[in-house]
Amino acid sequence: MTDRKSELETLRADLTARLSRYEAHQHREGGALDKDFEEQAAQTQNDEVVDSLETETRAELAQIEHALARIDNGMGDQCESCGEAIDPRRLQVLPYTTVCVDCAED
Ligand SMILES: [Zn+2]
Repeated sequence: MTDRKSELETLRADLTARLSRYEAHQHREGGALDKDFEEQAAQTQNDEVVDSLETETRAELAQIEHALARIDNGMGDQCESCGEAIDPRRLQVLPYTTVCVDCAED
């Protein structure tokens, strides 16, 4: 299980780095006033894309934190929903999952 944990920690570091890039993008210094309408429209569209990426990344991060917490509690390979063991092959493909394949399909 140590492998899965370090994999999750790597993933968490990646996502955290990505998140701070999104945040830097959203909080960049103005300049919008100098731009013509078309450019502003493109900018707004771009902001929306980054916005949804940020939301997605936050959700992924939360899931990873959640999986890590369960690993720390010794329940990392146990389904959160039904309590059965999660197939190790499933954990290999989806290291951040906290439910077994049966519960995931529901
Ligand atoms: Zn289950």
